[in-house]
Amino acid sequence: MAEILPGVHMVEGVDPSPDFSTHVYLLKDKGSTWTLIDTGLPGAHAAVDAYLARHRIEPTSIKKILITHLHRDHVGSLKELAAKTRAKTFAHWIEAAYIAVDPPYDGPGTPPAEPFVVDETLKDGDPIDAAGGLIAYHTPGHTPGHTAYYQPEHKRLFSGDLFFGEGDGAILTVPDYTHHTPTALISARRMARLSIDSLLTYHGGPILKDGGKAVRKAAALR
Ligand SMILES: [Zn+2]
Repeated sequence: MAEILPGVHMVEGVDPSPDFSTHVYLLKDKGSTWTLIDTGLPGAHAAVDAYLARHRIEPTSIKKILITHLHRDHVGSLKELAAKTRAKTFAHWIEAAYIAVDPPYDGPGTPPAEPFVVDETLKDGDPIDAAGGLIAYHTPGHTPGHTAYYQPEHKRLFSGDLFFGEGDGAILTVPDYTHHTPTALISARRMARLSIDSLLTYHGGPILKDGGKAVRKAAALR
């Protein structure tokens, strides 16, 4: 069982790379439905399907899929998972254009393998009726429309690639894959003003307790 926090499942096996640990998160909604954050590389849907089967979660009980950003390791299985779950798909309006490959993304990191048009676009501060209430925060820097999802009820930040888990803590996004690091730092400092217990990174981590401390450190704040 990979329920790492009440109502938060971390799906194992979405990235076979030994260099990276990658975490697709499945969040319990109030009631019997679920929300997925990011989808893994192309082919990773098999690991998500297996996870759902193992935990007897009906694929169609996933009602929303939230995307943090355009990189292939986040949207690679979006098409398959959207088809299988029939969930509504969401991304920031800038990122939605790049996920649709209209225009193609020419920044660092791997772009989507194929176009996908999300159902709903988000802007900064939008509330999302999922997992007891989430807020979409536009956190540009890693990519132009990168979005983190905050769950106020439990003070959890699903940070996408704004932060990477490293050891017991977190670091700011890795420059090699980042569009504009100084902008990412500004986004990190904004997130540091939130009250954060758990920092749910996509790569490395997650940090289940004292996440705010890790965020302040990664944002070069005291
Ligand atoms: Zn990325």
